[in-house]
Amino acid sequence: MPAISTRKPYRIGRSRTGLGLFATKPIKKGTEIIEYIGPLLDSRNDKHDAIENKYLFEINGRWTIDGSTRRNIARYINHACRPNAESDVQERKRRVFIRAIKNIAPGEEINYDYGKDYFNEFLKPIGCKCASCEKKRKLARAEARAAKARAAKRAAARAVNGAAASRAKTSARGSFARTSAAKSVAARGSARSSARAKAKSTATSASRPAAKRQRG
Ligand SMILES: [Zn+2]
Repeated sequence: MPAISTRKPYRIGRSRTGLGLFATKPIKKGTEIIEYIGPLLDSRNDKHDAIENKYLFEINGRWTIDGSTRRNIARYINHACRPNAESDVQERKRRVFIRAIKNIAPGEEINYDYGKDYFNEFLKPIGCKCASCEKKRKLARAEARAAKARAAKRAAARAVNGAAASRAKTSARGSFARTSAAKSVAARGSARSSARAKAKSTATSASRPAAKRQRG
């Protein structure tokens, strides 16, 4: 007989942060996947209270599950900020179950949110390696690269404009003179053409009576 029952819809496997728990069968949303097991620690017991490890699952102010035991397969489940499972804490029974909050496909890693305290104490200092945080970091890196490229482009454009500006400065007078000369030519031109237009209309009105006179 196999040591690990094939009825179980998960296996321990390699994840990006070490080991993790992966679905081997489709797991339906709402399904209880596994129980988080281990000795119960009572905070009123000094010996219990002195125990420190990364697998302590606090049920409430008094009771904590010490999940560091090898029997506790649920301890392989990694944290994710946008997980596909959650911890269902049953305070009165002092038991914790991991339950699917999404349909999980075979091969997918099973994750749940470890909570703010764990995150701030253990994950924040080293940077959370969950898929959504990695994605966020990747986007931030891409955005930083794009911003850097834009800044470089602007700097290059400034350098070109700067060179053009210094060239323009030396010929500023000439170009101003040319511009105003061109303007006055244009002004004269339009004055001339309106004068011509006036002359034309005068000529037309003058020629009409003449034509009449010729006919009459
Ligand atoms: Zn994360």
